[in-house]
Amino acid sequence: MSTHSLLQDSDRIRACVDPAAVAHNLAQMRKRLGPSPARIWATAKADAYGHGLAQVLAGLRQADGISVETLAEARQLRGLGWQGPILVHAGLLSRPEADTLDMPNLHLIISQVDQLEWLTQARPFAPPTVWLRYAGDTRMGGFDDVRYRRAYMRALSLLARKHIRCIGHLNHYAGAERTDGIQEADARFRHAIAGLEGPISCANSAAMLQHPSQAARTNWVRPGITLYGVSPLHGLTGLDLGLRPAMTLQARLADVQLLEAGASLGYSGAFVAPHTMTIGLVTCGYADGYPRHAQTGTPVAVAGRITRLLGRPSMNMLAIDLSDMQDARPGTPVTLWGKELPVETVALHAATIAAELLTALTARVPFTVLADVG
Ligand SMILES: *Cc1c(COP(=O)(O)O)cnc(C)c1O
Repeated sequence: MSTHSLLQDSDRIRACVDPAAVAHNLAQMRKRLGPSPARIWATAKADAYGHGLAQVLAGLRQADGISVETLAEARQLRGLGWQGPILVHAGLLSRPEADTLDMPNLHLIISQVDQLEWLTQARPFAPPTVWLRYAGDTRMGGFDDVRYRRAYMRALSLLARKHIRCIGHLNHYAGAERTDGIQEADARFRHAIAGLEGPISCANSAAMLQHPSQAARTNWVRPGITLYGVSPLHGLTGLDLGLRPAMTLQARLADVQLLEAGASLGYSGAFVAPHTMTIGLVTCGYADGYPRHAQTGTPVAVAGRITRLLGRPSMNMLAIDLSDMQDARPGTPVTLWGKELPVETVALHAATIAAELLTALTARVPFTVLADVG
């Protein structure tokens, strides 16, 4: 099987993103909600998980809202023409930022009470919706049980004075990928917000996949990683879940060499040839964002065939086994992850998760966007 090259003539490396894959994945995740009227915040923090917000926005058009990390990113998203709701994860970063809420349809996640105080002092504009974040079982920001009610009371007074438009309740689970991962966390959250009015937003990708009935009972769900075609569930790839990878990373063979039996490869000789073998040098290294911790055996695809990394990636180069691919020649495209090779599998060999790999590509990697979604 030969592979389509994504490389231009003078490329050593290139990432290709596919907005149509994102649109497909969004539709798949919506299907998982069944008849539930729950709306979807398409999570696009970290520049759409490293794909580039501008580059995948065409694939997110059917989302009910888009979430980003900062107000600056929200402004960028408006600049790209997105008119729908925007959820800002970081809420407000400073008091002066509260004077810059010159955007309709803005939703802020509020994680501490100073952010509410900043809103009371803000120059009035289009009042935002605030989502109070419950600390839950992640405790990475948000209010514990006692503080949650206090924050809600404070928010009610802002609502009365029309500083804000609505108050929502937001929770994020620490262990949604486990089948028993959210029952207790969900019960605590429901107890914390008992009797308080307002819409509820809970489920990330893993919660939507593993706990569909809980996800369907909330007003807004927040899938992220699945929209980019990646499985959050251990032992399954996006393809297994009916998703399509949204990014392919390709470099090329720079050289083909013989490595003599007993010869070592790279810094500190991380790999020693057990017998004479043919190896390839590939124009990709950790300075591009490829994980330096990837181990010998990490899969790599050459012209559609899977082979393996040898030794440790260096700054600009990595070595692969070409023993069974004698026909490979300098210039041949090499896929590091993407359509022929799930990024989840690569992550597993590098003792990390796919989201880290996708968001870690450096500015040295140019991008191509596949033709629009129609
Ligand atoms: C990142 C994030 C999500 C999306 O999580 P995925 O696991 O990528 O689906 C949802 N909610 C919050 C608060 C997040 O930070």
